[in-house]
Amino acid sequence: MANTPADTISLKALVDKERNQIMFIESENAFIDVVLSFLTIPIGTIIRLAPKQSVPLEIGCMKNLYASVENMDVKHFRSKACRDMLLCPLNGAEVHCKNLKLKIDRGEPTRYYICGSECPGLSYSYGVRCEGCGRNIYSQRELSAIQDGDIFVKGLARLIISDDLQLMPPLTVKSLSVFSELGVMNGNTTEEVTFNVGSDEVLKLLVCSLVSKTPLTETLLKNKPIRKLSNENQVMDFEPEIAEGTTNPNGNISVKLIVSKSKKMVCYAEVGEDFVSLLLSFLTIPLGFIVSKMRDCSLRGCISQLFKSVQDLDNRYISNNHKETLLSPKLAPGCCYDNHLLGTEEATFYYSSTYDRLSSDKTLLISRILADYVTTTSLAESSIKSMKVKDPKSYQDLDKGYLGPAMFTVTDDLIIGPISLIFGLSLLNELKVPSTDIEEKTVHVGKEEALRLLVASFVCDSALTNVFIREPKQNKGPKQEQS
Ligand SMILES: [Zn+2]
Repeated sequence: MANTPADTISLKALVDKERNQIMFIESENAFIDVVLSFLTIPIGTIIRLAPKQSVPLEIGCMKNLYASVENMDVKHFRSKACRDMLLCPLNGAEVHCKNLKLKIDRGEPTRYYICGSECPGLSYSYGVRCEGCGRNIYSQRELSAIQDGDIFVKGLARLIISDDLQLMPPLTVKSLSVFSELGVMNGNTTEEVTFNVGSDEVLKLLVCSLVSKTPLTETLLKNKPIRKLSNENQVMDFEPEIAEGTTNPNGNISVKLIVSKSKKMVCYAEVGEDFVSLLLSFLTIPLGFIVSKMRDCSLRGCISQLFKSVQDLDNRYISNNHKETLLSPKLAPGCCYDNHLLGTEEATFYYSSTYDRLSSDKTLLISRILADYVTTTSLAESSIKSMKVKDPKSYQDLDKGYLGPAMFTVTDDLIIGPISLIFGLSLLNELKVPSTDIEEKTVHVGKEEALRLLVASFVCDSALTNVFIREPKQNKGPKQEQS
């Protein structure tokens, strides 16, 4: 085999010549790990990187949320850092992803600084004052890349990946039957092709996985015309997975909707900064978290196939620890907007003074200390402290959201701007809704509504109407009161 350049991965694909379609790919783990890492990538990162691609990224209203942050004056945010963490959200699984052979985000790596004294202060920026002890934080530490050899899948797994991103162990009855259905067994129409893929192809694959059922074909077979994606407004029959007993009357956010009675749609909403912070926090959410909240939602792309494949892989191919990293991806430490409505969790950084390493994988850190420094687990554990992000410039008040107190106008497809009657009136004009046809409705957003909003903003471009006006299939529907 020819030498592969260092920044590419070589893939062996079986191609259906007649249909000009990739049936499946065989590859080293390096490529499978790259594909699996898609589940850990925050939505905001996908949108930031996607414009470089030729494929239109149509994921509900997420792009509008991102553009709203870009367009909003920085004075509306609690700090510039709050705005930055929405435009360039950190990946909570960075300790894994930094070792990937191909990275889609080749920007500046995140820097980590720890407080020199005994306190567990940690910051993403240099020289800020530690809230814990009052000293300035200067010591830069690498986020430790200690690994047990695997990034996500185990050593010699050699999984097969189909065009719609289903992972299969090689040569199982299941994979054979899938491929004979696809007509792969006919040697006359198939050929083996080798591809070298780099970061650009990986980014294109990520975007295609969100909008197409055949992302590998569209990414790798250059002469394959990109299917024109339908532009119709998808009305989704989605119901997010909601854990029992999550309805929480406390901390509810109230939202005033301007509704067209005849069209049964939300024209726009007048809201406070609490609701906007909730919407903007969607940009920090890892893709896998959103997929985990969707129940049989007919997504345009096939990222849910990838998610299901990980669920189905047994621990010969992936450890339970890595499985959890992909199926319940966490936010980076200090980056979780603390309104508890979505139930997202933050990763934790652990620092060992003995080993002088920072890691978000405590088990791995302990095993490395045990191997090199101390003899008992309790000694290893006692040398580890969990770090707290202490950065007065940025993350201190995140429990109050990203924005300072203000009122905002939000459109049905989640374009957000400072509250404006002129904007509201021009929207009504554009929608051809006369003033006699509008009514005001006040709704309250609890955990259930927050999760439905998250899913709706990912799959359709009329998020507010879908969540607050359309009757959900089984549920009683959002609490509403006339005002
Ligand atoms: Zn300190």
